[in-house]
Amino acid sequence: MELLGWKIKDTEPCPCGSNKAYKECCKNATEAAPNASKKPPEVQVMEKMRASMEKCCLYPDQTSCKGKIKEAHALQNNKIISLLAGSEHHVYMLNAKKKPILVPLENGEVIPIVEVSRTSANDATTETCFCDLHDNIAFAAIEKGAPDFDDSEEMKFVYAYKAFIFEYYKQTMSMKIFRQCFKTNPKAFQSKESVAIYRMLQLKEKEFEPIKKHFDSEILAGAHNGIFTCVVKIAEQIKFADYAFIALSYDMNGNRIRHTKKGVMHRIALTIFPEQGKSWLLMSCLEGEKKIYEKFFKQMQEATVQKLKFYLNMMLPLFSENMVLSPDLWKSWTEDIQGAYTYYANLNGSDGKRMEMCLGFALKNANRDKSGSTYNTLPKINLFL
Ligand SMILES: [Zn+2]
Ligand SMILES: [Zn+2]
Repeated sequence: MELLGWKIKDTEPCPCGSNKAYKECCKNATEAAPNASKKPPEVQVMEKMRASMEKCCLYPDQTSCKGKIKEAHALQNNKIISLLAGSEHHVYMLNAKKKPILVPLENGEVIPIVEVSRTSANDATTETCFCDLHDNIAFAAIEKGAPDFDDSEEMKFVYAYKAFIFEYYKQTMSMKIFRQCFKTNPKAFQSKESVAIYRMLQLKEKEFEPIKKHFDSEILAGAHNGIFTCVVKIAEQIKFADYAFIALSYDMNGNRIRHTKKGVMHRIALTIFPEQGKSWLLMSCLEGEKKIYEKFFKQMQEATVQKLKFYLNMMLPLFSENMVLSPDLWKSWTEDIQGAYTYYANLNGSDGKRMEMCLGFALKNANRDKSGSTYNTLPKINLFL
């Protein structure tokens, strides 16, 4: 993607979504609306995310929608969440629907922190992005009543689609909400920080669209081709689950994964979840993107269980926005560790990138230790009880 820079250009479409050129639209707004918020833009967007997630159905054929838009689970309630929640019927996770805490920094900035909170199994990882009928149809292969994960192309496809489409929904909503915020207060949203958020959303939009198109056409054709999935079986029942659509920057040995081509980031749809007595880590990309991740996937499949856990303990907390923890796991951590986990889970943008780089170094060092004993040391945040 061409670099659009940190200013809104006169000739580009106005960020408010009017389809007019910026200079013909919000550029000339001088005053903010009288009740416009003075909070930093990212805080405003985040707070609105809680309140104004729209209801829609993302199924490719919307002419056949039936039933209410429901709270669809990104991680299946009756298989994954209930297994984690156990008799408590609750899990622990970042709850973006709760009001973030605003933490003031020394330099006067304010950063929003979403806390980990006790969440009812019924509410964990739900979004309003499918109608009743299509939620049932699209995910039938892995829902209640379906057999355990069996490595079939269909199951791999559906897991990948699920991890992708829920992130796609959130991305689409973020863009919509940003546009609304911009419209009410164009002046405040011209700051460098706001334009940076907008550029990130634009880039993501561009990155997500071809993936959406692929999934849509396969679903409409009743097929599940064109997706490559790396399956890693873990021989124990883990106490957490997670889904994400991310580009990991470092492989297990701390080497860079070259996932960005011509400015476009190629991501993997990742799902990790327990079943009775075992667990699965699934990582999928488009067939055409296989070359980027092939080496990394092979590492993951061939690694010792210690090395695999070492890597996941390092990397997953950084990508744990959607992670669900069993009450046992969360309560096994000291307050200190709970705080560290919350901090990692809230990192994003350039702070997240910086942290990932540090972790990359740590992975490289661990790989240099030929005795392999580094992989046996206990990490600060241990996801494996
Ligand atoms: Zn405008
Ligand atoms: Zn529908």
